[in-house]
Parts: sequence; C-alpha cells; structure tokens
Amino acid sequence: MSDAGRLAPDYLTARARFLAAAGSAGATLDHHPFPDLGPTGEELAIDVAWLGPADPDRVILVVSGTHGVEGYAGSMCQSRWLESNPAPLLPEGLALVFLHAFNPYGFAWVRRVNEDNVDVNRNFADLHAPPRNEGYDELAAVLAPSDWSSETQAATGTALVDWAEINGWDAIQAAVSGGQYGHPDGVFYGGTEPVRSHRIMRAFVEDRLTGADRVVMLDLHTGLGAWGEVELITNEAPGSEPFERAKAWWGDRVASNGGGDSVSAELNGEWMAAVTKWLEPAEVSAVALEWGTVDSITVLQALRADNWLHNHGDPTGADATPIKADLRAAFAPDDPAWADTVYDCFDGVLARSLELLG
Ligand SMILES: [Zn+2]
Repeated sequence: MSDAGRLAPDYLTARARFLAAAGSAGATLDHHPFPDLGPTGEELAIDVAWLGPADPDRVILVVSGTHGVEGYAGSMCQSRWLESNPAPLLPEGLALVFLHAFNPYGFAWVRRVNEDNVDVNRNFADLHAPPRNEGYDELAAVLAPSDWSSETQAATGTALVDWAEINGWDAIQAAVSGGQYGHPDGVFYGGTEPVRSHRIMRAFVEDRLTGADRVVMLDLHTGLGAWGEVELITNEAPGSEPFERAKAWWGDRVASNGGGDSVSAELNGEWMAAVTKWLEPAEVSAVALEWGTVDSITVLQALRADNWLHNHGDPTGADATPIKADLRAAFAPDDPAWADTVYDCFDGVLARSLELLG
C-alpha cells in the first residue's frame, strides 16, 4: 500500500497536502475563499496552482472536486503528480494549472452538490431559459422524499424500478442525472443563477486563459462505470472535429455523452462546454475523466439519502455518520489498489497531453 495513493480523510488534509506539494513544485498559488465553513469550522476555498509563464499560449487545466466528494480522488491525483514531479520542466510557452476543489463545500461536507444544493456541473446552462426535464418532474417526489424510513426507501425504490421498466433504463438515467431546474430540494439540481464556483471560474477564465490559443481541460470525476475503469467523456458530438481530435489524442476510452455509448447521460449545463465557448476561437480539448466505483443503484441510493439528510435531517447529527460513510464509499473508496489505478491512468493522460501541447 502506498501512502502517496491514500485518499485524504477530510478536506483540510487534502488541501494542506495540495498546497504543500504545489509550493514545493514552485507553483504560484491563488486562493478564492468561500464564506461557508466546513464541518469542523475549517475555511473553504478554491485554490489554483499555476506552473509556467503567466501569459502562456498553451494551457493544460486540471480540475478536481467539481462534484465535491469526488475531489478526494482528484485531489490525490493532483498532489501525487506534484510530489512526483517536484521540479517540472514544461515546454516553453505552456502553463500547467491545477485548480483544487472547484466545489470546496461539497468536498468538505462529503456531498456531491454545493452550498446551494446545486450540481456545479449542471449550473452552466442558460438559466433564464433552463432546459426542461419532464422525466424528473414525474419522479421528483419519489427521488427526494421528505422522510427516509425503511418503508419509504422500499416504496420509492419499487416506484423507480417500475418507472424504469416502463420507460427504459437509459430514460431513467437521463431523467435523474441529466440535470433539472425545477426542484431546488431535489438531486442533480442546476440552480437559478450562477453559483459562487461558477462566478469564480468565469473570472479566472477571463483573467488568465483568454490569451491562450490551445487549451486542454481535464476534469476529474468518480462514481460512474465499472470499478477502477475510466472513460474520457466529452460533450462534443461523435464525428465532430473536437471529438475526433480527442479520440486521436487519448484513444478509444474517449466517449461522447451525446452519442449514446457513454457511461454518462447527455447533460445540461456542463462547465467545460461553457468555458469552451468563452475561449472561442481557441482550440479547446476537454474531457471529464470518470472512474467507476460501485454500481449505479448503490450510488444513487447514497445520493438520495444524503439529499434527505441535508434537506430534512441534521447533517451534524447521528443520522449523518452512516449516510456519509455510504457516500464516501460510493465516490471515494478507501482502497489503495483502486487509487493506484486511478493515479496511473491520470498520470498517463496528463503525460500524453503535455507531449501533444509541447
Ligand atoms: Zn462527477
């Protein structure tokens, strides 16, 4: 078992490791604090470690913690890479940027969503005319009940299976996880206005990235797919120039979430799709690295329990302990072999990206 691959027990430990590793590697650090605190009163922030020139023409941006709790694995990848490359030699004109804990509240509180119950990766839609999700409307009360007794769990579980058998399993995945804008207490909620993480990202992109003409974005996720396996998910349509480029660069693990062959449903309001537009006409190659953990029914059950806990229960009370343990197991398994597999894959994708932009 390697200590380097161990996932941090909490946000504070993960953040301290990241800041130390980035400092040792000679990165310039910027901090974007949040007003909310973590469960032990710790301060929350998005931290940005910048290696290379301040005004690059090529940038590789690596983001962890878009989905809070998924940041335990992403943060480990970022810190371990910096520790393994304490004096990185970058090609001239290229900046390598690690953005740590895009959703620090979810990271610290072991949640997928943020301080507003918003899924940060559904928040970048046109919120004045948000996408409709009629499947979610039908399932809203079943997905996010106001009590979490064993009777309610059994009844709602049966109702979800019944809906899936009538409408199809792809349809239920799209309805549940595609993003919804009408149920603020529900799951996969996209919000009504740009959340703090969104606003910080927008300012960061405008301040620091708009001078680049070639950009790679790697967004680190967990919780979808088979145990330890990865998919590199793009929102670009199969056959399009950016999709074919991603495939040529990173191989057959690349899949489009609009193409029907991805572990992910087609999503509304993804942040990388928005940033790609903001950076036009730069050449942007953006993929979410999605590592599988446990099966998707277990993952959804953990998310629904956590949704109940924060909306109807007490996240600091006795109910929290088993619910948070289940959530962590679903998104940040404490298994060194899994973590080593994740890291080796990340290291390979980043090395290839550095070679391609070099
Ligand atoms: Zn995710």
